[in-house]
Amino acid sequence: MKRSNKGRKILWPLLFFTAGFLLYGGYEPDAYIVVLDPGHGGRDLLPKSVYGDKYDPLLGEYRDHFRPGAQNKGLIESEEVYSIAEKTYKILELTHSSEGQKEFEQILKKYSKNIGNINWENQKPIKVYISRIPGYSKEYLSKKTDINAPYRLYDFPDIYTGEMQKGTISRINALNPHLVVSLHLTAGRKEKNGAIASVITPGYDTYKMALDYVRTKNVSKRQKIRRKFFASPYANWMVSNDSRTHFQWFLCDAWIYFTGYWSKKDGLSADKRKFRGYRHNMMQWIYADKEDWVETAKKHPPNSPYSFDLLNFTPEGPFWEREKDIPERWRRTEGEEGYGGDNLYASQELLRYIRNGMIVNKVNSKKTAPKILNPYLSTWSVPTYLNAISAYLELGFLDNSYDRERLVNHKQVYAEALAVGIYSLVYSLQQDSGSKDELLPKGKPINFEKYENYNEENYFKKVTSPIY
Ligand SMILES: [Zn+2]
Repeated sequence: MKRSNKGRKILWPLLFFTAGFLLYGGYEPDAYIVVLDPGHGGRDLLPKSVYGDKYDPLLGEYRDHFRPGAQNKGLIESEEVYSIAEKTYKILELTHSSEGQKEFEQILKKYSKNIGNINWENQKPIKVYISRIPGYSKEYLSKKTDINAPYRLYDFPDIYTGEMQKGTISRINALNPHLVVSLHLTAGRKEKNGAIASVITPGYDTYKMALDYVRTKNVSKRQKIRRKFFASPYANWMVSNDSRTHFQWFLCDAWIYFTGYWSKKDGLSADKRKFRGYRHNMMQWIYADKEDWVETAKKHPPNSPYSFDLLNFTPEGPFWEREKDIPERWRRTEGEEGYGGDNLYASQELLRYIRNGMIVNKVNSKKTAPKILNPYLSTWSVPTYLNAISAYLELGFLDNSYDRERLVNHKQVYAEALAVGIYSLVYSLQQDSGSKDELLPKGKPINFEKYENYNEENYFKKVTSPIY
């Protein structure tokens, strides 16, 4: 495949994460780097000590069983989202050849009456990666080894040599992407016409409410913090099960965010039986603590970042500096949607493109198009630990007949809408004037440059330099 770029002929290799992919995974100075991240793959097999995920250097074992994603009546989440990612990849690849560009412009015209004169020669191209190889079902029978190796989120020791290997989060960060689009499906919600939703994680200031809540003994101050939480966009915090309220789950997740430990139900002390590990030290990036952190952390000294008590926990070290810094506020707190930062804007914008894609391709009417739900709010790993704009999408419910029908028959529409949405987030796409439909995309691009120029360091590149 030959593609032109500024008059040069460049071969853009189709690179999944083979050895070549890893070697190639440096930065690409002349491109916007986009990673399509289809969730899961792999299998939840026993024993956890061999097949698990979330490898914790403190314990020297996996904290969690492997999470293979949802399935329902023959539809497997990891397979469906991989297929959508592959199709999206192919559509975005059109932007690299002059014939392809013409085809891509025809697609854009479905979504915008005025796409203008696109100056393909002079704009920085979009370079696309897929974060993992296809799912287990094509390969697992032939492999008699650690079949989850290509799919783990966190770093893990090689089953034979013990040498640490990159998990998906480390691999994605090593590509220095501008934008990562994570694709998931779920089950269990009965929306009439099916639904789509963003998955986001708040910034430091939101979690700090929990820190303040635990540290004050004053009842009226605690009530004030509680009211502030319920007046915030995070009031509808993810409830994992009915054993705790929204606020209690928020407190518990804030404990996990800060200390790694679950809290007890009242959110005032640690549940020492439930430890998730120091997640920011379970991946390769510049925000991990220095090498000797494990020995200190094992002692959980008070007044340190390894204290198990939020009362005397100190948010110090490279990760906590990152968390308090301005780019994380842009990414997770402020922004176009009024909260949730560029992560939420990118996610919502892609959902609006998907909804619109179903309408312009006549799969659905405005009435039957998938509903855009409120975002899922929690201390999720992917949007927290990626040094990129993270658009994390739930594309549908595997037990909903409308979503199933769209997934089975219209994957190409999801892919097309995602490709157009990614184009729009990178370059902008003019929306037809006069339309006040807030369910339509806004067409505004992400200001990647402010991240690239913050503090004279490139936010996207510094995550793995100068070590790697
Ligand atoms: Zn999932």
